[in-house]
Amino acid sequence: MSLSTIDRLMPELPEVETVRRGLAPHLFGQKIHKVLVRQYSLRWPIPDDFCEVLKGQTFQEIDRRGKYLLMHLTHGTLIAHLGMSGSFRLCDSDIPFKKHDHVIITLDNQTLRYHDPRRFGSLHWTTDQPLTHALLAKLGPEPLCDSFTAQYLFEMLNRRKKAVKSCLMDHHLVVGVGNIYAAEALFKAGVRPDRSACTVTPEEAKKLHTHIRYLLKRAIDQGGTTLRDFVNADDQPGYFQQTLAVYGRASDPCRVCNTRLESMIIGQRSSVFCPKCQQ
Ligand SMILES: [Zn+2]
Repeated sequence: MSLSTIDRLMPELPEVETVRRGLAPHLFGQKIHKVLVRQYSLRWPIPDDFCEVLKGQTFQEIDRRGKYLLMHLTHGTLIAHLGMSGSFRLCDSDIPFKKHDHVIITLDNQTLRYHDPRRFGSLHWTTDQPLTHALLAKLGPEPLCDSFTAQYLFEMLNRRKKAVKSCLMDHHLVVGVGNIYAAEALFKAGVRPDRSACTVTPEEAKKLHTHIRYLLKRAIDQGGTTLRDFVNADDQPGYFQQTLAVYGRASDPCRVCNTRLESMIIGQRSSVFCPKCQQ
């Protein structure tokens, strides 16, 4: 599987938010009658008592932190990460399981199924405040929240020497900016992805901040248009499609200046950029 194929399949923040919005109204108030784990070995093993603990509880709200879904139940929170290929779907109980349907949660009228061919996703149960969970406690701010400001981004970049693109994708600095959004925001801001983060000026940081937020918002808005497809899907979630300026377009002409786009590897991820538009 090529790098770009993996990126396209991998759920990013907008897809996870789309999943959250799609599932929340359907799950709210639904009681868990039975849990069947067909594969305990995900990125982290599902605990042995998972089925017993969840049984009898009722779904409340669903929140999101970074790419984690926080599914609040009566007595605690189910923390779910979709990894590289995970998806949830709601379907009738009598529909046969698919090969990679690892967890089956029987509700009042339907079943919620967790499907994950590559098994990099995870399901955790906690009765504590979920934001203090070891997986979540050290995450940076949400890119669409007020705490993520241009000034904050500038200060964070200013004290780091590694490539600016790697910093944007560092979840300790800000969550949810994956390879696609980092590449696109850097193009829009006119910043070469391999520049040392500390060379980014306040003006450039402001542009990066604006474009990161704009790209994520737009992606969430587009995801929102496919919610119905997502919930009803029996296979692929309804991920949005959008026109990308540089991502996946190595050797193609720049949409702005027609220069041939170049590609390099930064932090083991392919990074496409325009040598003319990005300085
Ligand atoms: Zn260009």
